[in-house]
Amino acid sequence: MKSATRPEALTIAVDRKPVPAQDGRTPLKVWHEKEALGGNPCDAFVIILRTSGCYWAHTRGCTMCGYARETLGREATGEEIRDQVARAMREYRGEPYVKIYTSGSFLDPREVPVEVRSEVTRAFQGKAQRFLVESLPEFVTPEAIQNLRDGFSGEIEVALGLETTQDDVLQKAVTKVSTVQEYLDAARRLRDTGALAKAYLLLKPPFLTEREAIEDAVLSVRRCRELFDTISINPVHIQGGTLVERLWRRGLYRPPWLWSLREVMLRGKEAAGEKVRLVSFPTSGGNSRGTHNCLSCDGRVLRAVEKAAITQDFGMLQSVLECRCRDQWQWETSLEALAP
Ligand code: SF4
Ligand SMILES: [Zn+2]
Repeated sequence: MKSATRPEALTIAVDRKPVPAQDGRTPLKVWHEKEALGGNPCDAFVIILRTSGCYWAHTRGCTMCGYARETLGREATGEEIRDQVARAMREYRGEPYVKIYTSGSFLDPREVPVEVRSEVTRAFQGKAQRFLVESLPEFVTPEAIQNLRDGFSGEIEVALGLETTQDDVLQKAVTKVSTVQEYLDAARRLRDTGALAKAYLLLKPPFLTEREAIEDAVLSVRRCRELFDTISINPVHIQGGTLVERLWRRGLYRPPWLWSLREVMLRGKEAAGEKVRLVSFPTSGGNSRGTHNCLSCDGRVLRAVEKAAITQDFGMLQSVLECRCRDQWQWETSLEALAP
């Protein structure tokens, strides 16, 4: 892990405090997006519920995560969660893939009370094919998965923010509360219950060079492929109130190049093999806060990444090569190892 002087003592949790007394009866966001199921493109319905959010984000938090700002600042009641889902359902168009996020862990009972979990999944019973939630590993238990199944007989998928399979990167650069082993054990528990496991891998945590970040992501795909059905490469984007934002403002951090993402996707697909779905849907792709190149070729590379993610056909991504900025990326990634 390389250089970049660590800034003054972290006050991340303070910077990320949510605005108090927010509306607990309206979801934070609802939208529709492209996805794939069983190898076929499909539509997905996405809800972000307002809850207390990730407990770790309020304690110290991870270096790139600003989700605490989007939380309620207190625990939501079961009644509020019911109202949020009911309001979101007004926009549901029967999409087969449903994703419900909470800016934390859906399976943490402080975020979504146990007694409403099956009510939330039941809203999609007979309508959706797959239901996805996110969780920290410690909340992944057979009972928690059963709570979801009590209301929904389709596929249950749980996404884990593994980020990297290198413990020193996870603890020092990302500052996660859980260890790599805890994530892998949670993925095994998901397999045992018959649920689908999805891993998020972070591309370019702070304090890694661009080349180190590429190698970290490819290595992580190789190391975790046996335990996950889907692996999502998530390039860091600059979120408000984070350590990464401070480094970025001081010129000490650049979000990953799209060329780096392309390399990780191509090499990652080879490492992952045919059985694992390798995807990436970059947030803020093509602008200065997200993964980007020279901005003139960004649209082309992003379209190729999306096509690969949805169809698992990486041919278009393989053929996107031409732009002068590619030389600059190659030059920078080869010289950065020599920098003090
Ligand atoms: S564990 Fe996840 S939600 Fe919590 S602070 Fe870290 S990245 Fe954010
Ligand atoms: Zn370019």
